Amino acid sequence: MNIGIVGLGLIGGSMAWDLRSLGFQVLGVSTREQTCQKAIAKGIVDDASMSLSLMATADVIFICTPIGAIASTVEQLVPHLSAAAIVTDVGSVKAPVVQALSELWPNFVGGHPMAGTAESGIDAAVRDLFVDRPYVITPTATTPKLAVEKVEEIARSLRARVYRCCPEDHDRAVAWISHLPVMVSASLIAACTSEFDPDIVRLAQQLASSGFRDTSRVGGGNPELGVMMAKYNRKELLRSINSYREHLDQFINSIEGQDWEALQQKLEQTQKARGNFEF
Ligand code: NAP
Repeated sequence: MNIGIVGLGLIGGSMAWDLRSLGFQVLGVSTREQTCQKAIAKGIVDDASMSLSLMATADVIFICTPIGAIASTVEQLVPHLSAAAIVTDVGSVKAPVVQALSELWPNFVGGHPMAGTAESGIDAAVRDLFVDRPYVITPTATTPKLAVEKVEEIARSLRARVYRCCPEDHDRAVAWISHLPVMVSASLIAACTSEFDPDIVRLAQQLASSGFRDTSRVGGGNPELGVMMAKYNRKELLRSINSYREHLDQFINSIEGQDWEALQQKLEQTQKARGNFEF
């Protein structure tokens, strides 16, 4: 089977590398010649090109471009596709992408491999990125069953944990565990560095240890990705941020009112609830 990867960056490059190692013939398309050459030289793909015509012999094509480029890429891709080709994407937001792409190509299945690093581009591609990570498949009532099964089979071959849900449920769930944390973590960094005494800021920077490293990690990542999350998942992200603000207010009220019992109860609840997340 021939696999096509459009967008040879962190996700596309990593996926191409693993699929090639599994014995698939992997063809890549990216916007820069340098990226295509690097992907071939490193053995990430069998062949690569800046032209989407390379996808003519691909059976399953993964669209791994930035979210903002997914729909326009598929629009340009359609004339090159064979009739039975399956198209899937890896975008971090699903409802708007799935709606746009299902109209462009009926044999389309939305997907989201939930793995990443703070790096981007072909140099960030790594092997085994998806091992034991969730890979969400988001079919709709009209998504062809065979296409769903094929994409799930490939995701399983990457040793990912495959889940299935509708695009809207995906977007609401990832707002809580992926998009909200970026905004919370970024606010944390911004708040710390807004301390008016520069000596205290410097001291805090020197004293920062594992707790701050963990809680600031996602807020210190790729800004472009954060903006894309907010732009494409605006409604669900705002819903989750507003709820977060309400919880922060509860903490403020407890601390201002020196209601240590309420604070204790809240922290006991969060300690218990954290155990239910399947990291
Ligand atoms: P990335 O490292 O920046 O890779 C995207 C690559 O796509 C770029 O390096 C660029 O390569 C290429 N590209 C850009 N526009 C293109 C176009 N129109 N046609 C073909 N190639 C194009 O970004 P990423 O982190 O892999 O993210 C890619 C997708 O994965 C996004 O939709 C994102 O939502 C999703 N995702 C990201 C993560 C994460 O944690 N990063 C996790 C899950 C899903 P050249 O310019 O070098 O050719």
